[in-house]
Amino acid sequence: MTPPLRWVLVGASDIAATRVLPAMRALGHEPVGVLSGDLARGQAYAQQHGIPVATASLSDAMALDADAVYVSTTNQHHHEHAVAAAKAGHHVLCEKPIATSLEDAADILDTAEANDVVLATNHHLRASPVIRSVQKLVADGTLGQPLGVRVHHAVSLPQRLRGWRLDRPDAGAGVVLDITVHDADALRFILGREILDVTATGVNQGLAAAGVHDAVMSIMRFEDEVLAFTHDAFTVPYAGTALEVHGSEASVFVSDAMTQDPDGEVVLKRAGSIDTVDVGPRDDLYQTGLSAFAAAVAGTGEPLASGMDGYASLAAGLAVTESIRTGRRAQTASRPR
Ligand code: NDP
Repeated sequence: MTPPLRWVLVGASDIAATRVLPAMRALGHEPVGVLSGDLARGQAYAQQHGIPVATASLSDAMALDADAVYVSTTNQHHHEHAVAAAKAGHHVLCEKPIATSLEDAADILDTAEANDVVLATNHHLRASPVIRSVQKLVADGTLGQPLGVRVHHAVSLPQRLRGWRLDRPDAGAGVVLDITVHDADALRFILGREILDVTATGVNQGLAAAGVHDAVMSIMRFEDEVLAFTHDAFTVPYAGTALEVHGSEASVFVSDAMTQDPDGEVVLKRAGSIDTVDVGPRDDLYQTGLSAFAAAVAGTGEPLASGMDGYASLAAGLAVTESIRTGRRAQTASRPR
């Protein structure tokens, strides 16, 4: 069995409280401290979640005796916090987007490499049983040549999350860095292909502050001329999420595809048959991600989404933003070596 890890939580966040801490505890991992931008808030958070130490000092947090750091601060802090963690010799699980610029993302990757620590991006959809089953159908050739993908990821932003995502451009507000980057990563994983360029339109439908996009549609062109479109929004209450992948030999239809829970049904349609696909165990997505991370730390596996995967999904997100701004097709950047 992979040894459990001792974690410093950087960011007294909602996602840590609602998903990642419960997953850590279920796996026997141990949170040893939490960093908050506000000491009193951090102390209250630590007490509420049974974390022994709260601090507002990054250097104090990095000095804690731990194996790994989970970075879930607001997006503009990921670079500083992930770099500090890697320099302190901690393995790093960083929330998406891995950074808010490609220069910062490359710096995180370089620092992790230089300090020989595992760097992973918390793209939880790679852990989804339905997403994984679609990836297998592509990889084993069941779908034939992949041709087109449709992603329906337009949701209503939960009330409790209606803060910086809507009105803090400096923190990386907007639907692109929140949702589109997840789509980009899930599709790179499913298709096993890179995104070459994107064409996108983004609007403000009145939920976010002026100038912040709360609804975006994108067309992504992948290697081998595979096309995907994504509809991402904070403003749509009743659509539900879904994914379709259409190939030359079969099409696959996934309901509840883009969620944080192991939900969804996968239906495979091909000549003469329509079948529901058995997706296997419905394990918690965040536990699956943490288990893979722990295996990578132990040297017996790979993280589900690497730092490089985080770089690639950010590159796609920034290309979407550029296309919205210019009204033109935008190429996705590759990591400079
Ligand atoms: P929250 O607003 O709940 O948490 C962000 C935290 O950042 C706050 O608790 C705040 O803590 C902390 N913070 C801000 N500035 C600083 C600072 N200078 N030093 C230390 N802490 C700071 O956001 P969410 O939980 O919704 O999102 C957090 C991150 O997780 C985002 O990057 C988001 O994209 C990602 N996320 C990923 C999901 C996934 O499934 N993979 C799902 C949801 C979010 P304090 O107020 O105490 O300073």
